[in-house]
Amino acid sequence: MPAPDVDSSSTSAALPPGMVLGPDGKPCRTCTDWKSWNKIGKEKGKKGSKSNADGAAGGATATAAAGAAAAGAAVAAGTGSATFNYEAECPPDKEILGRATWTFLHTMAAYYPDKPSPMEQSTMKSLLSSFSQFYPCGHCAEHLRQEMKVDPPKVESRKDLSWWMCGMHNKVNEMLGKDVFDCNKIDERWRDGPADGRCD
Ligand SMILES: Cc1cc2nc3c(=O)[nH]c(=O)nc-3n(C[C@H](O)[C@H](O)[C@H](O)COP(=O)(O)OP(=O)(O)OC[C@H]3O[C@@H](n4cnc5c(N)ncnc54)[C@H](O)[C@@H]3O)c2cc1C
Repeated sequence: MPAPDVDSSSTSAALPPGMVLGPDGKPCRTCTDWKSWNKIGKEKGKKGSKSNADGAAGGATATAAAGAAAAGAAVAAGTGSATFNYEAECPPDKEILGRATWTFLHTMAAYYPDKPSPMEQSTMKSLLSSFSQFYPCGHCAEHLRQEMKVDPPKVESRKDLSWWMCGMHNKVNEMLGKDVFDCNKIDERWRDGPADGRCD
């Protein structure tokens, strides 16, 4: 099992608040939100680093992109002669990775069979178990593994899996102080779209 990452608050190193270190002891982009990550770029910039290509980019451009990334928008930020689109061009931070992953997980649940075969149920359990080992935000994965021990995946039907996934996501929402999602709306959000047809 991969070693969990470490929040900067638990280390004595002079790291920006919110920065998380990966198991290799280096700053972990996929465990850190862009605003915290961006602070490293600013420090690098102060020290005269020439390159900001690793996404720890300092300066106004990256800050503008950080806002876009935090809002989940693929907004172009001016870089002088060119524009750059953070979400399209840069490796994901924790927020972008999280949104993309939840999109995949909820959509996968939404299209899971109503009556899965024993083999399909077993495959889904394996997939979720493997997923929780390799999700590239270590402390997120660790939290998920703990939750899955207490509340193992429900794979007996599409509805069971969709509601279980909704519950897992809500546990993370609650932990992060976000609104809890109404699981009665799971199919509307992830499969059917709203009744007024605006997504059709
Ligand atoms: C498995 C996993 C574990 C994570 N653990 C952590 C963690 O420990 N710490 C951390 O800081 N971040 C964690 N994240 C990231 C975090 O959950 C968010 O993805 C990220 O903060 C971006 O949040 P968001 O508000 O943009 O929307 P998200 O929470 O990513 O949600 C995306 C969309 O899903 C819909 N939605 C929201 N809640 C539900 C629900 N319950 N059921 C169905 N649909 C819903 C909404 O329409 C929302 O816009 C984790 C992500 C994943 C995939």
